[in-house]
Amino acid sequence: MNEILSENVTAEKIQLDRIDHDAFRAWPFAQDCCITCAICSGSCPVAGVDGFDPRKLVRLASLGQIDQAVESRWPWICTLCGKCEQVCPMDIHIPDLVRRIRGLRDRDRVPGILHKGIEAALKTGNNLGLPKDDFVYILEDVAAEVAEEPGFEGFTVPIDKEGANLLTTIHNKLVNTHTEDLKHWWKIFHAAGEDWTISSENWEGTNWGFFTGDDDAMKTMTGRIVEQMARLKIKNLMWPE
Ligand code: SF4
Ligand code: SF4
Repeated sequence: MNEILSENVTAEKIQLDRIDHDAFRAWPFAQDCCITCAICSGSCPVAGVDGFDPRKLVRLASLGQIDQAVESRWPWICTLCGKCEQVCPMDIHIPDLVRRIRGLRDRDRVPGILHKGIEAALKTGNNLGLPKDDFVYILEDVAAEVAEEPGFEGFTVPIDKEGANLLTTIHNKLVNTHTEDLKHWWKIFHAAGEDWTISSENWEGTNWGFFTGDDDAMKTMTGRIVEQMARLKIKNLMWPE
């Protein structure tokens, strides 16, 4: 059905300066099947923000107005939550479509925090560009606070524990502005007797390669986590992101 409907989108209608037409038509997101029912719009938690509506974005794509979609702020308003995809009667892969559109924007025009974050992550291993020694210092400092609480005397944070049962990644905000949140799940691990650890390198759990539509960066970030599992000989991963 996708291919049949694509036949109706003529080259004349499509204003593509940079985007390869054939490549666009090969997108496997079923965007041409949209029946404009707006069920996605009703389910979207950010519909209405700056005029965003997933149905409108799908229509831009199905009409070949990719440049317009790429230049628009709309793809960056989407949270990639996936609700729209769950309710769409035509099974259109809207979050994947959003990611592909994001990926077509020049990298230096990706919204600031995301662009800086993924650049720092690729260079240093985490979105903050936090040096390893500072990271370890913060974790140990938080662990010392936990150890002062009743029932957690002697608590230490297991960093780079080879052969542990579980490796967990960390969201960068937990070592920046939300260190208190670390304590909650450390206490759960402690109470459950879990054999866990955190890597001192490439510990970042937030993959902004995913959010920026940069598949190569996403693979690099994911691969680094797998490398840490191999380095520490760990089979199980908890990836809270
Ligand atoms: S729910 Fe699906 S078919 Fe309906 S408007 Fe949204 S994308 Fe189109
Ligand atoms: S994935 Fe994006 S467009 Fe779909 S419901 Fe979530 S925020 Fe809205």
